[in-house]
Amino acid sequence: MLPGARLVVLGKQGAGKGTQCERLSHHYAVPHVSTGDMLRAVVKEGTPLGLKAKSLIDRGELVSDELIIEMVSVRLAESDVRARGFILDGCPRTVAQAELLVKVLDPIDIDLAIDIDIPTAVVLRRLAARRVCVDCGSNYSTTAPPRIGWTCDVCGGEVVQRPDDTEEAIKRRLELYEKETAPLIEWYRNRRQLATVSGTGAPDAVSRRMIKMVENQRAKKGGRLS
Ligand code: AMP
Repeated sequence: MLPGARLVVLGKQGAGKGTQCERLSHHYAVPHVSTGDMLRAVVKEGTPLGLKAKSLIDRGELVSDELIIEMVSVRLAESDVRARGFILDGCPRTVAQAELLVKVLDPIDIDLAIDIDIPTAVVLRRLAARRVCVDCGSNYSTTAPPRIGWTCDVCGGEVVQRPDDTEEAIKRRLELYEKETAPLIEWYRNRRQLATVSGTGAPDAVSRRMIKMVENQRAKKGGRLS
């Protein structure tokens, strides 16, 4: 049977985390667990919690560590994740979340945290051009739009600019990335769980780099992960 994996994917907004996590999820046949997608689903439900989350997300602020870890711990306890692993996208985003994640996963641990490294000038261009489907979350851009108008090729939903891809929210999200999320790179390096890949170039090339890092880690562990 194809072995699973337990991976955390780090990187600035616009580094291509969503696209790459989707690809790794198919490659290793493990669920893609995206806290951004989970929060957007809560927002869509329009519950009081969803409304509170929406105002934070739209301004580019972070949702509380407690809410995130509660949401993630419920998902990580589900049988598909327990059987094969996960590709964790957008979480942890703070050192406090990383510490809580260790507790949630105990006695197992992640296999590897992969940082997709990319210059800020490139992500600014990508975020300004990014468009997403409001229904299924498929990603497009002004340079690679859907085939027909702004209608999603996958599900027929409307393709729009994310409310947090405005200039002001992007600025705030990148500020918070430097302050809260970038320290995680050192944190995982100190735990000997970090791999860094360049996020520039074609998505296929980036996926290959990431898979190579996972397989290197597997080889180091004698062919097994966790
Ligand atoms: P993303 O789709 O990962 O860019 O997430 C969109 C927004 O959801 C972020 O800008 C945050 O407001 C919120 N969010 C997602 N994941 C987290 C997290 N782990 N911690 C705090 N806020 C988060």
